[in-house]
Amino acid sequence: MRAVRTSCHCECSKQTHACRFVVLTGGPGAGKTAVLEMVRRTLCPHVVVLPEAASIIFSGGFRRGNSLASRKGIQRAIYHVQREQERICEEEKSAAIVLCDRGALDSLAYWPNSKQSFFAELSTSAENELSRYSAIIHLRTPSLALGYNHTNPMRIEQPAEAAEIDKKIAKVWAAHSNRHFVESTENFLEKAKMAIALIAAELPNCCKGHLTHLGGGASYR
Ligand SMILES: [Zn+2]
Ligand SMILES: [Zn+2]
Repeated sequence: MRAVRTSCHCECSKQTHACRFVVLTGGPGAGKTAVLEMVRRTLCPHVVVLPEAASIIFSGGFRRGNSLASRKGIQRAIYHVQREQERICEEEKSAAIVLCDRGALDSLAYWPNSKQSFFAELSTSAENELSRYSAIIHLRTPSLALGYNHTNPMRIEQPAEAAEIDKKIAKVWAAHSNRHFVESTENFLEKAKMAIALIAAELPNCCKGHLTHLGGGASYR
């Protein structure tokens, strides 16, 4: 987790917040990493970005295999890393928004067994997982024409597989009452701005003053 930046334009720099959890998700190649980088640069320091649990697990050298046991073990590990990162923020109460680079239910999209077994093995329920997040922002994986690419070395999916994962992610979050799709556009910046506006909409009023410092005439509402 990044340290709180010193240049803060919020009215609330000393206040605690009723922390809201927002998920930024999407299939491979959707541009999540670029959007998160823009969030760090443009939104206030009370928006805390949690690193992606899957990247922590994989870059940390977690054993990767194709057996059922292995595929399940990887997803359980990702789920638990995600939940513990969220819990720290819950207990710290300093963030206005905890922006999750994928949420706990993303693991269900990769789960190689029944939905029932996922919830049973993790001792949780769909309601439990959905209710923790105040918004789900899903960046759609672009079609080949709109530039699916392989810039992230952690990603091993092919385009058809990427589209399939994007669909599965859409399915696991479908029951959330505040889920938004951000479709791919020819100009990636447009897509990124739409995503940031949706994130900014979840900010409490005390943190919205910061949005006026974005400049460039961009409207983040
Ligand atoms: Zn703030
Ligand atoms: Zn605030």
